[in-house]
Amino acid sequence: MEKVDVIVVGGGLAGLSCAYELTESGMTVLVLERGDFSGSKNVTGGRIYLRPILPFLPDIWKDAPFERHVTKEVFTLMGQGNSTTFEFYSDRFNEEPFPSYTILRATFDRWFADLVSARGGFVIPQKIVEDLIRENGKVIGVRTGDEEIGADCVVAADGILSFMAEKAGLRKPFQPQYMALGFKEVIQLDSKTIEDRFRLGEHEGAAQLFIGSLTKGMMGGGFLYTNRESLSLGMVIGLHSLNSKEPREEVYKLLDQFKERPEIQNLIRGGETIEYSSHLITEGGIHTMPKLYTDGMLVVGDAAGLGLNMLVTVRGMEYAVVSGVLAARTIKRAKERNDFSAPSLAEYETLLNESFILKEMKTFQHTPAVLENKRLFMRYPQVICDLFEKVIWVDENPKEAIYKTKVAELKKEFFNLQTFRDWLQFKKI
Ligand SMILES: Cc1cc2nc3c(=O)[nH]c(=O)nc-3n(C[C@H](O)[C@H](O)[C@H](O)COP(=O)(O)OP(=O)(O)OC[C@H]3O[C@@H](n4cnc5c(N)ncnc54)[C@H](O)[C@@H]3O)c2cc1C
Repeated sequence: MEKVDVIVVGGGLAGLSCAYELTESGMTVLVLERGDFSGSKNVTGGRIYLRPILPFLPDIWKDAPFERHVTKEVFTLMGQGNSTTFEFYSDRFNEEPFPSYTILRATFDRWFADLVSARGGFVIPQKIVEDLIRENGKVIGVRTGDEEIGADCVVAADGILSFMAEKAGLRKPFQPQYMALGFKEVIQLDSKTIEDRFRLGEHEGAAQLFIGSLTKGMMGGGFLYTNRESLSLGMVIGLHSLNSKEPREEVYKLLDQFKERPEIQNLIRGGETIEYSSHLITEGGIHTMPKLYTDGMLVVGDAAGLGLNMLVTVRGMEYAVVSGVLAARTIKRAKERNDFSAPSLAEYETLLNESFILKEMKTFQHTPAVLENKRLFMRYPQVICDLFEKVIWVDENPKEAIYKTKVAELKKEFFNLQTFRDWLQFKKI
């Protein structure tokens, strides 16, 4: 059996970051990616935050094919036939290094794979890893088709379903309440139209999130990110919610209905859908993390359950990149000791614990429970939209005093035991 130092299964952000950090260390690194090229199977919303990543990979971002740096945060509560939008801009969003960028994975991951190859890593597309090879319980390589390739260390970077972590006996059974389905369209529009419609400067971008009636009472929401010459428009719905909804909803119809809302139609008008994709999202954080290492193997990125829905933002890409780098650092030290046993690779968990990743996983451990609350998606957005509508509405009847009537209504809606319970739950995140 041929042997290399490290095999990375999966050429997404986690796998490529790990490989990048390992290149120029003298080790032979092989990334096996089942897609036609890195990026071809990868889906994100998506916005990536740069600042958490910079301390770990400071040099590579100058030339990265980002779409736009986000200067504008837009949050829309959707009711039935009405909506309320909050918009936030900060000068800090426009200062370099820009805090966050929109990206398209088909372009981004492909660029990253080229970078890894340029530094001496081997990124091989169209290679599905089917199994792990084990000897006395230790992972010693992988099987792809008829080929067997040995390695001192295998890195499972194969995404949310991680068959590698499953085969190594590291992963917990899937729990639908900790997973969501994301589906999106990329809609082509010229950059001038995007900048005019979203009131953006050149290269500036907007990130818009939607919560409320669009998900028909199911846990989830919508997103819209501006790219250079396209919009990424999509929805994310909790699997558990989707499964328990009667009658069943077909997700493509939900997205079509979302697109028919005038608030969206006016933003995408004249655009052409050039890509449709859908993918599972890990939202369980600490509740779904597998064991992160075993003899001869480490697990990174989505494969390690490193994803969070923080309500105002979905996080996964920074976790993928940084966990990949930390896995690589662990492997380099294991190589110095020439010891790839589980106790030696356990250092990876220590590094993750010390980093922002596991700290955030712990801080936001109650988010999945909070997101189970249907009132968050149906009741509260509707109440706020209706209230605004009533305050603003003028007709043939004399207008009522705002404080006396509307604030009384607001009190009725929000000052009750149920809302108090919701607030207590919300306090946990
Ligand atoms: C709709 C949606 C919106 C999202 N929005 C955001 C966002 O705005 N911000 C954010 O930070 N995160 C977001 N996320 C989450 C984020 O995209 C993921 O956390 C991130 O892509 C994880 O990267 P990864 O490299 O771990 O996994 P992946 O990108 O899934 O990469 C895994 C790779 O492994 C390959 N592979 C799998 N099995 C095998 C095999 N057996 N052999 C060879 N190759 C294999 C796959 O082809 C793939 O390339 C979103 C996710 C979705 C689906």
